[in-house]
Amino acid sequence: MNENSFFGDVCSFFDHAAQFTKHPAGLLDQIKACNSVYRFRFPIRRNNGSVEVIDAWRVEHSHHMSPTKGGIRYSEMVNEDEVMALAALMTYKCAIVNVPFGGAKGGIKINTKAYSIAELENITRRFTVELVKKNFIGPAIDVPAPDYGSGEREMSWIADTYYTMNPGALDAMGCVTGKPIALHGIQGRREATGRGVAIAIRECMSVTEDMERLGLSVGISGKRVIVQGLGNVGYHTAKFLAEMGAVIVGLCEVEGAIYNESGLDVEEVFAFRKENGSILDFPKAKQRFKDSGEGLEQDCDVLVPAALENQITADNVGAIKARIIAEAANGPTTPEAASAFTGRGGIIIPDMYCNAGGVTVSYFEWLKNLSHVAFGRMDKRYEENANLTLVNMVEQMTGVSLTQEQRTQVVKGASELELVNSGLEDTMVRSYHEIREIKQRIEGVKDLRTAAFVGAIDKVAVSYMNLGIWP
Ligand code: NAD
Repeated sequence: MNENSFFGDVCSFFDHAAQFTKHPAGLLDQIKACNSVYRFRFPIRRNNGSVEVIDAWRVEHSHHMSPTKGGIRYSEMVNEDEVMALAALMTYKCAIVNVPFGGAKGGIKINTKAYSIAELENITRRFTVELVKKNFIGPAIDVPAPDYGSGEREMSWIADTYYTMNPGALDAMGCVTGKPIALHGIQGRREATGRGVAIAIRECMSVTEDMERLGLSVGISGKRVIVQGLGNVGYHTAKFLAEMGAVIVGLCEVEGAIYNESGLDVEEVFAFRKENGSILDFPKAKQRFKDSGEGLEQDCDVLVPAALENQITADNVGAIKARIIAEAANGPTTPEAASAFTGRGGIIIPDMYCNAGGVTVSYFEWLKNLSHVAFGRMDKRYEENANLTLVNMVEQMTGVSLTQEQRTQVVKGASELELVNSGLEDTMVRSYHEIREIKQRIEGVKDLRTAAFVGAIDKVAVSYMNLGIWP
């Protein structure tokens, strides 16, 4: 395997974990391989009249379940190896959090900043047309979502293009997730990945035995955190961690990093960057680093890489001071760096679990699109009436009256957002302890990533066996 290959890294994590399973070699090979790799090029006309040819990919890693699912990355660094790696991670991620999809990923090789909005729309619509032509998109086939460089706007262009090409298709809106609320999206999707990352860190820090081993007190409150990347995932992770009582001491972006041991206000930094285009001159920063990588090496308890892959490598892992790395991005730690970090006692919360909140809520969005009804619509009022009857009865029987505020709290039926957040939290909490239990149970499994892979491989293997391909 190529030394600098991201897909190679994923395969090497897979191979390491596979030794702790009992599946035949052929089945393991099938699980590991990318089933379909579609590489295509298409022309677009630029605003200045010139024609440019765009490179793009869609990879469906595993069809053990349908549809396949995974985001679309817009980046000039995107390449086939990276899309294959990200598609493979999606397979394992879905298995870990029990989301019934196979893994997929897409990539469009562009620097989004170099194009106007109209050009980006043209590229996205043309990309979608190519997927439709080759049957690489559809609510029962392959369902894209946002990733690095893309968001709700791009997802709405994809949904509209798909629907235009499939007029009258009843489930057309389930062809993509991460859509705006007004276009059949779901409450809570935008912040889901970051919320999930924060819950993952909270769960990790709730285990007394593990925290004692790291020399940290139990719980997230007061813990010092550095976050790399202030995009969708990084911003929301930092925001939720701060709400949980963590102190965000460092923030790193492309232009550099800032640090303040007393804490940085995430909203203030975010607003400052929006206005000034950089975090470096943020007035309340105590230290500033033009080399963004230096930001990762500052003193903290938890490091959250939430930008891109290959950020913690054999070269800088020795300088990382955090005791916990929470992989909000996909593939931020190379295998060499991961083994050095866990070898010296640190905990890595692996990407395939840590950032699975996004696909979990995407699954809820897809279900909503297929059922054509918002969560809570049918039962919210019924629940409220039932609660009200119960409260009235208890008050009558006990003679104790609730205040108006207490009454509202007890009676209130769940909204879509509350149901989504509850499903997300339950998924993240259960999955963390499932992975940790594998780590504790299987001799030789020394880290959470290996445990997560073992669990995922077992689940995908069972699906293949149920398909009847393996006796
Ligand atoms: P995004 O485009 O919204 O944000 C990425 C941010 O990282 C940008 O602000 C960018 O300027 C910054 N960045 C880029 N290179 C950097 C560097 N070297 N140092 C510091 N900052 C840098 O992307 P996103 O959706 O937040 O995705 C981030 C990561 O999370 C990716 O690895 C992605 O695959 C993963 N992820 C995203 C989702 C999701 O729901 N969006 C779900 C799962 C995983």
